[in-house]
Amino acid sequence: MIRAKKKFGQNFLTDESIKRQIIQAIPNDLERIVEIGPGLGDLTQKLVQLSGKIECFEIDSELYEILLDKFASEILEQKLKITNADALESWDEIARQDYFLVANLPYYVATNIILKALSDSRCNGLVVMIQKEVALKFSAQPGDSEFSALAILAGVRGDAELLFDVPATAFNPEPKVVSAVIRIIKNRDLLQGFEALEFERFLKSAFSSPRKTLLKNLSISIPKSLIEGFLTKENLSLTIRPHELCVALYLKLFKEAKNERRECTNSR
Ligand code: SAM
Repeated sequence: MIRAKKKFGQNFLTDESIKRQIIQAIPNDLERIVEIGPGLGDLTQKLVQLSGKIECFEIDSELYEILLDKFASEILEQKLKITNADALESWDEIARQDYFLVANLPYYVATNIILKALSDSRCNGLVVMIQKEVALKFSAQPGDSEFSALAILAGVRGDAELLFDVPATAFNPEPKVVSAVIRIIKNRDLLQGFEALEFERFLKSAFSSPRKTLLKNLSISIPKSLIEGFLTKENLSLTIRPHELCVALYLKLFKEAKNERRECTNSR
């Protein structure tokens, strides 16, 4: 019997009906699915029946050996490839062709992995299980108290949905938190031509103190008069909070601030 390793965020999914629901949430006819953290291979087993090409990245070398054994024939038939590596350090390999990401993600690295997949143009979308608290942040709508920089980063690339909750009893060992499955289908890139990192910094500043006004938060990095002018022009209150502005207006404000900075630099 394998002992789950806390340092790798190992909570193995044992509930058959949840496994089925995850598989049902994956779009049909995918050419290449990447699974991060196959663990004992329970989801992998179902994925190989779904799509022509599955590639898995597992950090734990003990689990890797078990997986090689379990899937010897699928590997031989080239339906499945398993790499023993940290997924975050193998992104060039993950992104060498288009892919759809499926995973029961380890909590400690889930947000980073989703952000990486969102900013990766090779990724067509994802169905992942994560901590519910984080799932709400990615899938919240403008006006919801959970609406955050994560929801905006998802919203500029596609539609994020929280599909269903997963109780701790669905895992072994049981995690201390409730989990949820989210799906993001990447069907747009509203950031095209703009620096993703710069937009992330802008959002960090916008949400630096979620209870303060957007004007107060952003005026640390952008001229106050520009933000006031923007909010007035859009018929918005100067006391609007960061979670109340929609994705399109965040982008518009970001672009206006960037153009203003460019004009200032050019006129020097
Ligand atoms: N997919 C399995 C399941 O649903 O039962 C296991 C899920 S468990 C929550 C997370 C898995 O990710 C573990 O197998 C763990 O070893 C692996 N893992 C953790 N960090 C990783 C990383 N940086 N890169 C690749 N795999 C990782």
